[in-house]
Amino acid sequence: MKFFKSVTAIALSLTMVMGLAACGSGSATPDEPEQNTQEGQEEEAPTGDAKTYKIATDTTFAPFEFEDESGNFVGIDIDILNAIAQDQGFEVDLQVLGFSAALQAVEAGQADGMIAGMSITEERKERYDFSEPYYDSAVVMAVSATNEDIQSYEDLAGKKVAVKVGTEGYAFAESIKDEYGFEMVVFDDSNGMYQDVTVGNSVACFEDYPVIAYGIQQGLPLRLNDTQEAGNSYGFAVSKGKNAELLQKFNDGLANIRENGKYQEIVDSYTK
Ligand code: GLN
Repeated sequence: MKFFKSVTAIALSLTMVMGLAACGSGSATPDEPEQNTQEGQEEEAPTGDAKTYKIATDTTFAPFEFEDESGNFVGIDIDILNAIAQDQGFEVDLQVLGFSAALQAVEAGQADGMIAGMSITEERKERYDFSEPYYDSAVVMAVSATNEDIQSYEDLAGKKVAVKVGTEGYAFAESIKDEYGFEMVVFDDSNGMYQDVTVGNSVACFEDYPVIAYGIQQGLPLRLNDTQEAGNSYGFAVSKGKNAELLQKFNDGLANIRENGKYQEIVDSYTK
């Protein structure tokens, strides 16, 4: 009997360890069935079986994710994610990594999913599964507010153009760089890219319209070029074929917060 008990105890602790590991990786295995409490030891009050998912995001991509004046990490993506987590009863372990690093973390299984103003592209669909689109976007060219010389892509010949690694803006710049004869300067984050343009090293950058328009509205000394390239909507992503359960929760929660007005409330709080 004693032997049996200790075997149960070991099995119990193993189950807990495995349970924790499953939590950490957000794997789709169902929760382990409840174990009997050990003799003379009260089981702790259940804290619920809320799963914690590691969600990767970008560092600076206002109004989607950024640090506000009080040092809080906020934004449309963050608020949407938290509202969905609350609606669907899961916990979020946010990993603020930067865009390219987030892409890699998800692919490598170090994060369960990502939300980072990530455009749903055909190419990415080969490596990621996306949620329903939650925000429309497009790529635009921005130049320094004081620079009148750059009016079109033709004016980029022989000049430097700032881009952010791994992004749609980068891919677009790359696709036209030989045609228009410019050189690309690559940054890890959007702020570095903007700065390169404002100090005059690069004459232009390619960025998502909702992000650069917000920046300019907040006082970023840049000006938009008229040409808006066709862009792709943003989606929440998981690694292809993995975390289908998390993706489902995201979609279900998104539908709910759209219906109950929370989604619009969040968007308005940043864009109005
Ligand atoms: N929407 C762009 C993309 O998916 C940029 C995202 C970002 O910089 N966070 O490539």
